[in-house]
Amino acid sequence: EQFNAAVAGAAELNAFIVTTPEAALDAADRTDAKRAAGEDLGAMGGVPIGMKDLFATHDVQTTAASHILEGFKPQYESTVSQNLWNAGAGMLGKLNLDQFAMGSSNETSYFGNVSSPWRKEGSNAAMSPGGSSGGSSSAVAARIAPAATGTDTGGSIRQPAAFTGICGIKPTYGRCSRWGVVAFASSLDQAGPMARSVEDCAIMLGAMAGFDPKDATSLQMDVPDWEAALSSDLSGKRVGIPTEYRMEGTDQDILDSWEQGKAWLKDAGAEIVDISLPHTKYALPAYYIIAPAEASSNLARYDGVRYGLRDLPEGAGLQDMYAQTRASGFGDEVKRRILIGTYVLSAGFYDAYYTQAQKVRALVSQDYEKAWAKCDLILAPTTPTASFPLGSLNEDPLTMYLNDVFAVPASLAGLPAMSVPAGLNPDGLPLGLQLVGKAFDEQTVLNAGLAIQ
Ligand code: GLN
Repeated sequence: EQFNAAVAGAAELNAFIVTTPEAALDAADRTDAKRAAGEDLGAMGGVPIGMKDLFATHDVQTTAASHILEGFKPQYESTVSQNLWNAGAGMLGKLNLDQFAMGSSNETSYFGNVSSPWRKEGSNAAMSPGGSSGGSSSAVAARIAPAATGTDTGGSIRQPAAFTGICGIKPTYGRCSRWGVVAFASSLDQAGPMARSVEDCAIMLGAMAGFDPKDATSLQMDVPDWEAALSSDLSGKRVGIPTEYRMEGTDQDILDSWEQGKAWLKDAGAEIVDISLPHTKYALPAYYIIAPAEASSNLARYDGVRYGLRDLPEGAGLQDMYAQTRASGFGDEVKRRILIGTYVLSAGFYDAYYTQAQKVRALVSQDYEKAWAKCDLILAPTTPTASFPLGSLNEDPLTMYLNDVFAVPASLAGLPAMSVPAGLNPDGLPLGLQLVGKAFDEQTVLNAGLAIQ
């Protein structure tokens, strides 16, 4: 009842696509029974969480916020969600997102915009919770769910976390299985937790991660006990400050919070050093070639035959069914990505765009390799601005894409990266600071997050 009241009260946020309170209650009952029997409750025993609707959940509608998957009830469970249930968690429902995780504002969902619980001081305009994991960020920030899953291809955990004043970590590529996660750009997609504290993120990431033979890019490494090793003592750690992140168009309050972040890490014992990541400005354009290229290939499977929607006009043939289903099933942003992706992969343009973008990706990774000679982790803003009102960037996809300018480089390099809350701007809106670590070194990222939060 309390859950239903909370959901009703928060319905205007539109954070959930479907709610499953009975599943959350079942997990609570199972946890009670284990407690009574003196059994181990699991790392997430009884914790009700929100599940981004990009994770396949057995017999529960899984849509990726697209009309083309409406009504699709998978007969399998994603590895990450299964890991969470095995650790004792229960599902509150499936969370809204940008359609196929393409977007930075949660305005591309077929199921409507998600709004942030935050408001600019003196204004009642609905603000963006960020995207694509905007249902996750909104539900956690509004205290509807203590934690939620997110996925991050080019910032979709970190940017929404920054916009709503919560924590979110994208682990090293390969830590969390992609099996059963609706694919966007497979070489970049990575799941991670979104929660109110660094401690909660450490616990939940521990439950989500682990080798999975069903994902060919899954890391064959043990999952460390990140929670047990949490420490805000950063003595001996060198924090790199990348010169190239002082970009035009970055708000002054963002730069101020970056300075504050340096001071906090220094207080925790770290040494601050200047570093250079010279190919930073090419990362975003390269991302917007690689991600759509992979998306255009991944989304070829939605043909009206295998999943969800089938649009078969009277007397039409197979080709018409493909065309009709895709025309009515995909939203505009998804179509834009498919068009860009097929263009950059086409015979005449492949070398000029796709191959070139892959070379840039290698250079961005090398920038980090060189930087690690000088530092152990990197501190930067998560986003160039705080949240914006819903509707304000709709006509301007390029400005929308710029939201991820600071998030995308770590995605291209597959590195662990976290956003932690760093106070409010003069308008009363949350700001986030981003910590990027070496591959497999989530611990240093989490520890620095602890020192900031
Ligand atoms: N906003 C970026 C995009 O639209 C990143 C999305 C994501 O990380 N899933 O592609």
